[in-house]
Amino acid sequence: MDFFANDIKPVLATPKNVVITSHRNPDGDAIGSSLGLYHFLRGLGHFVTVIVPSEYPDFLDWMPDVTKIIVFDNQPEESQAAIEQADLFFFLDFNDLERIDKLGEMIAPRKGTRIMIDHHLYPENCADFIISDPDASSTSEMVYDFISALGFRSKVDKIIAECIYTGIVTDTGSFKYATSSKLFRTVADLLEFGVDDYLLQDLIFNCMSVKQLRLLGHCLHNRMEILEEYQTGIIALTKEDYANFEIQRGDTEGIVNYLLKLKNVKLAAFITEQPTIVKLSLRSKGDFSVQEIAKKHFKGGGHKNAAGGYSFQGLKTTVRKFKEILPEYRLQIIQ
Ligand code: 5GP
Ligand code: MN
Repeated sequence: MDFFANDIKPVLATPKNVVITSHRNPDGDAIGSSLGLYHFLRGLGHFVTVIVPSEYPDFLDWMPDVTKIIVFDNQPEESQAAIEQADLFFFLDFNDLERIDKLGEMIAPRKGTRIMIDHHLYPENCADFIISDPDASSTSEMVYDFISALGFRSKVDKIIAECIYTGIVTDTGSFKYATSSKLFRTVADLLEFGVDDYLLQDLIFNCMSVKQLRLLGHCLHNRMEILEEYQTGIIALTKEDYANFEIQRGDTEGIVNYLLKLKNVKLAAFITEQPTIVKLSLRSKGDFSVQEIAKKHFKGGGHKNAAGGYSFQGLKTTVRKFKEILPEYRLQIIQ
């Protein structure tokens, strides 16, 4: 990161029209890192717009200036206008333009500097500066390091710190994974900037609706299948489940992690029937990499212990295909 700082500092030395973008179905880290950087760059005097392909979940509604984010699905013209005016692009929490769908196609022909800050494995070569750290807990942690490397730590305020904290606490599952001594030092800094960690965890994690909690019960009681031989758990949701529970974006967030609460489950799959695709959310414990399965079999990617992908083959076929690949990985899973 220090290596890039001297090259990036001149880019930020004069006011720029900046577009910050992050991935489809943005999560706490996508929105936290984007808004953290947004507030920081505005503080430096830049004109900044955050654009994401699809809507963010309700549990982030409290975030400072979250309503200023342009959602491409709802505001395609505003997105296009902001991209046409931009002379500097940030790609946060994704590593391949495919992850931002049509926004990627709009940005591709534009001039302007591109800076990627991301912690997913194997970044694509689609930016002038690729700041990639798969060992980082989150892109938000990396945004804090980016600000520090530029020598602007003094510009961090409570709002920026809250955004960065949100990305870290969501991507680490409340400090359960991808942690490091460095991360805890960063979080200590954030608390010193005024973050109320108890309040933020309450806002982020204790905000389920009755419907969401009942849906969780339904998934665990009626839709969970355990394949003991492969130490694997699967939850599959049908189109009918989506209609019966009126499932909306964010309602299924985190359900996959419950499978890992089982002592003997090392691999978890949450497979859902969406209008045009079947989406897979994969998680693992320990050394087994779900990134590899997502990439090889389901056109996806992600991290070692959390990855995702999709299929066009229908729910039943996709679940069958997932089960069929397990023998190939059995020894790695149960090691
Ligand atoms: P989730 O299961 O929470 O949707 O995603 C877990 C991780 O896998 C995230 O880091 C996300 O970026 C990545 N991921 C999820 N779906 C896809 C996908 O379709 N393609 C790629 N490349 N990564 C994905
Ligand atoms: Mn992330």
